[in-house]
Amino acid sequence: MISVVGSLNMDLVINTDAIPRPGETVIGTGFKRVPGGKGGNQAASIARLGTKVHMVGAVGKDEMGTALVQSLEKDGVLVDYIAEKEDVPTGIAAIIVEKSGNNAIAVVSGANYELTTEDIENSKSILEDSRILLVQLETPLPVVRKALKAARSYKNLTILNPAPAQTLDQDILADIDILTPNEIELEILSGCPADTRENIHEAGKALLGKGVRELVVTLGAQGCARINEDGIFHYDGYQVDAVDTTAAGDCFNGALAVALSEGKDMEEAIQFALAASAISVTRAGAQTSLPNRKEVDAFIN
Ligand code: ADP
Repeated sequence: MISVVGSLNMDLVINTDAIPRPGETVIGTGFKRVPGGKGGNQAASIARLGTKVHMVGAVGKDEMGTALVQSLEKDGVLVDYIAEKEDVPTGIAAIIVEKSGNNAIAVVSGANYELTTEDIENSKSILEDSRILLVQLETPLPVVRKALKAARSYKNLTILNPAPAQTLDQDILADIDILTPNEIELEILSGCPADTRENIHEAGKALLGKGVRELVVTLGAQGCARINEDGIFHYDGYQVDAVDTTAAGDCFNGALAVALSEGKDMEEAIQFALAASAISVTRAGAQTSLPNRKEVDAFIN
């Protein structure tokens, strides 16, 4: 079993010919409401790939919160530890996508920032039963720290996807078995440039020096790099026709956790994650783009 501690957002996606400038009103060409939030996306990804997963998070007492929880339940995610917070809206992301593919996004964290260390305390029994904890940075840092410490005390493998990027104290870094930044997140976390293979290795080594056990740096269409005390190892991505990379990183993280929870080694787990995330970029939206197990197995074989 895997536990995910993280955010739940409703993505409100408006398509336009062009992103409006300040003061301008444009008429949209389409609208969709898509379940999102990194925590929810990663939990949904795990459930679709066939592994038992508990989501620990928070929504407001409103219709969007109910819809998000129902959508996760439909995917098979266990939702008993999603708290309903009073007097605060469910997290939302207002996303404008223009014809060129560029987007502008405003997020209101809402209930995600009301998740507390007490909520983690209350979910200790599921952390105790899990093999893996997967966590991101869209909830307050004390919550992230508490979840990592609790998971470590139960000998879970801990995976932190450090998105959105921010610098982290050594006491958090030292509780991470696998850190999964993209290049930008790696730069911000390490304070080092991550523009070449050598620089990515150096930046990764700086974080290994602060207690992270190993890193898997995602590199978009280029695949990913694994960095540990033995060096840096590159894994090519699959060549696909990408239409929307939203949630590619979330799919990668969910799939990596699934494969590791099944006892696969890191090499195999990375190949599984590369395949799952490659499928996800061929489809639109966040949770709408996540593949199921049959699709990934068929893609690999
Ligand atoms: P994030 O979405 O967090 O920035 P990346 O863009 O690095 O993360 O994507 C995560 C993973 O998704 C990559 O490691 C890769 O496996 C897959 N991926 C992303 N973009 C593509 C693409 N254009 N073609 C194939 N795979 C992709």
